[in-house]
Amino acid sequence: VGRVFTLSPGIIALAKNAISDLIDQLGKPCRLVYPPKMEPCVNCVFDSVGQKSSGRWVTGGPMPFPEGGKCPLCDEQGMLATEYTADIKMLIAWTPREFFLPPAPGVQIPAGTIQAKTYIEHLPKIQQAREMVVQPHLEKLARWRFVLDCEPADVGNIVQDSFVVSQWKRAG
Ligand SMILES: [Zn+2]
Repeated sequence: VGRVFTLSPGIIALAKNAISDLIDQLGKPCRLVYPPKMEPCVNCVFDSVGQKSSGRWVTGGPMPFPEGGKCPLCDEQGMLATEYTADIKMLIAWTPREFFLPPAPGVQIPAGTIQAKTYIEHLPKIQQAREMVVQPHLEKLARWRFVLDCEPADVGNIVQDSFVVSQWKRAG
């Protein structure tokens, strides 16, 4: 029991549920994009000596081509750059006034800086991402791309170890 106030497990659970509701219902879908990985082409046999396509189709591959020809899938490279992404939901604060972690007094926040709050389980995915796209399904209308601006932090006091806030700057 505290001296001035007591955070009962019930109060903590209520606060945690309230934040979860905000993320789940008011959060925006965000796509984390990872650096592309080079992987062997699925359509041709890789020539490990020449470090390129051997010109032989892999039976069952998606784009058949004649023996000794040019693999149409990898353009004779033998490798394909595969982009990996992960979709998560984050509560977005678009202006410093709404920030979960307010900027220190006197610190100028460049235009296009946002903060995002989400579940702490997503922290490794956030740290490894090359960039983040807010509302990727609207990409045809607008593209909101961001890169991580500083190390994400657990800024919660009442609810700890549950959520993480990350700061991002606009990248196009
Ligand atoms: Zn190929």
